[in-house]
Amino acid sequence: MKYRIPQLIPYVGKEEVENLKKVIDTKWLTEGAFSEKFVNLIKDFTGAKHVLLANNGTLGLFLSLLSLGVGPGDEVIVPDFTFIASASSVVFTGAKPVFVDVKKEDLNIDPDQIESKITSRTKAIMPVHIYGQAADMEPILKIAKKYNLKVIEDAAQGFGVYYKGRHTGTIGDIGVISFFADKTITMGEGAVVLTNDDKIFEKARLIRNQGRPSSGTFIHPALGMNFRVTDLQCAVGVAQIRKFDEIKKLKIAHYQLYKRELSSVKQIKFLQEMEYSNFVPFRANILVQRKKELINYLERHGIQTREFFYPLHRQPCFSYLKYKKDEFPVSNFAFAHGLSLPVFCDLRDEEILYICSKIKEFYGN
Ligand SMILES: *Cc1c(COP(=O)(O)O)cnc(C)c1O
Repeated sequence: MKYRIPQLIPYVGKEEVENLKKVIDTKWLTEGAFSEKFVNLIKDFTGAKHVLLANNGTLGLFLSLLSLGVGPGDEVIVPDFTFIASASSVVFTGAKPVFVDVKKEDLNIDPDQIESKITSRTKAIMPVHIYGQAADMEPILKIAKKYNLKVIEDAAQGFGVYYKGRHTGTIGDIGVISFFADKTITMGEGAVVLTNDDKIFEKARLIRNQGRPSSGTFIHPALGMNFRVTDLQCAVGVAQIRKFDEIKKLKIAHYQLYKRELSSVKQIKFLQEMEYSNFVPFRANILVQRKKELINYLERHGIQTREFFYPLHRQPCFSYLKYKKDEFPVSNFAFAHGLSLPVFCDLRDEEILYICSKIKEFYGN
């Protein structure tokens, strides 16, 4: 179906095309000059000591878990409310994901519920910085220290998001930012792995490139895989990172307009903005009454919405973990009531006003 207003359109144009043309002209398509440039831009932007490229956020998490030594017999604590990749990446290492509920204010992992889930098999905690706000890292780091656990941050949605001034993904032992087509900035598919730890970096570097320190040699000191990207993707990434300030400004302005227009609608609530994080609206999220009906109503008027994540403990693929459906009340509540309104740079104010008028119409005010 063609929407009058789609959920999201990436903010790409002539800058990306110019960079892509440069790559084609050099005839060097795998990691090259743009990849190096992109890595350096990410280092400057995030302050991470080490940055590695990965094919996407999912495999970036998988690579990070392997680099931390997570494997069969281990458990990794993951919030119940997140994209499937946070947990599937754990499963593919042979380890078991253990779910924890989230906070109703911001839908990030609830640090107060982590300790009761720790066992002798727990190896790591994976906070996920969800919907453009940082998880509360200080208590998580404290618990990790107490039980000698690793912290891997899923900052897939966290580009430009800081926890008390530190960029998400650089606070724990290792972290991942995704640049999938619907993330804050994009390279189509792609991700970076961030770490300040020299040993973890060395291990990740070997694993990502066939177990060898650099390409061009066929002697492999370790066993690895291929997590490399292309210079085409990084050419797009370089153009995107330069647009970030503009992207952030536009998305915040759109979000504020939604907030202003919908503040009088009592059937709608926005998530809370926490004092320890800045906010880069990843979606224009609202918690609503009669979610399904509203989605259908907006759909009939050409407006594409998106539902929130389906709680991990209820995923058919995780039935073997034997959680009960009513465990994790906040995560269940978020799914039952949450939806994302369109938010992207080229969205016009009139379009937002149209969406808000349809929502008001639906609730009869
Ligand atoms: C997008 C996303 C991922 C996966 O990233 P891909 O690049 O799409 O593989 C992982 N975790 C979260 C929270 C995400 O939003």
